[in-house]
Amino acid sequence: MAREWTGIQNFPLATQTKLLKLLTTLKEKERDSVTILVMGKGGVGKSSTINSILGERAVAVSAFQSDVPRPVMVSRERSGFTLNIIDTPGIVEGGYVNDQALELIKRFLLNKTIDVLLYVDRLDSYRVDNLDKQIIKAITDSFGKEIWHKGIMVLTHAQLTPPDCLGYDEFFGKRSEALLKLLDSGSLFRKREVLGHQVPVALVENSSRCNKNDNEEKILPNGTAWIPKIVEVITEVATNGSNSIVVDQKLIDGPNANERGKVFIPLILTAQYIFVGLVKKWIKDDIAKAPKSSWE
Ligand code: GDP
Ligand code: MG
Repeated sequence: MAREWTGIQNFPLATQTKLLKLLTTLKEKERDSVTILVMGKGGVGKSSTINSILGERAVAVSAFQSDVPRPVMVSRERSGFTLNIIDTPGIVEGGYVNDQALELIKRFLLNKTIDVLLYVDRLDSYRVDNLDKQIIKAITDSFGKEIWHKGIMVLTHAQLTPPDCLGYDEFFGKRSEALLKLLDSGSLFRKREVLGHQVPVALVENSSRCNKNDNEEKILPNGTAWIPKIVEVITEVATNGSNSIVVDQKLIDGPNANERGKVFIPLILTAQYIFVGLVKKWIKDDIAKAPKSSWE
């Protein structure tokens, strides 16, 4: 059951006005609910981002015990519109994707429809490595590459001073480019296809020390009020014409390993039959060719 979205009243008036306008836009497009799935490594700021967007402490945040142990869905209702946000535990453990954690998430999502995926990472990390690739691949393998048509790359810790005399926009450009390149690298997908779709990027600063504008709205170093901005991007993605991802049993089971090889069984049996026949013939020929000993 969805609770009334009272957190919206905690925002400065300017933000409230923009958010309510976006909800109206969604309702005009005949959307009366949006379900957002939030995924990413542990400790990157998934739960904090959810709380920031809702304007209330809806899910637990912790600097140390890095994560919620299981997925949770928070639902909020506002003038006939329902916003569902699903927080998930990070799917990485000891440097690898934890398949069990992934299974838990998939089972939680059964019979739900994902309208938007927030893939969360930090803006202030400098490298894109094999682990990032593994996570993106795990998400792609779980939900299909179409999920990225519903994806937003969310970068937290956005209030930073870039290193090496780089300008803010330049740094942001380089960091997001590296992550988007990973998405489009082709190695993620079966058949080496590329995504061919630009995933939008949204910046987030969850810290209470985030700078504010004259309207008391939290702003990024480039002056953008980021909460209405990310909700705007969510609205665009939710209504971008690509299909939402319906999580059914078939999707969860994936391309069934038992089924996959079945078509080859008759082929293999035939090959085996022919091969055994050949070997038998060779042995027979060999015996026939061998010089007979005198005692024979
Ligand atoms: P999760 O494991 O991905 O859900 O990450 P959390 O939301 O629990 O955040 C982990 C830690 O990072 C907490 O101490 C948060 O306060 C902190 N944190 C999250 N987002 C930001 C951010 O945008 N800026 C800063 N400075 N800290 C953040
Ligand atoms: Mg969390």
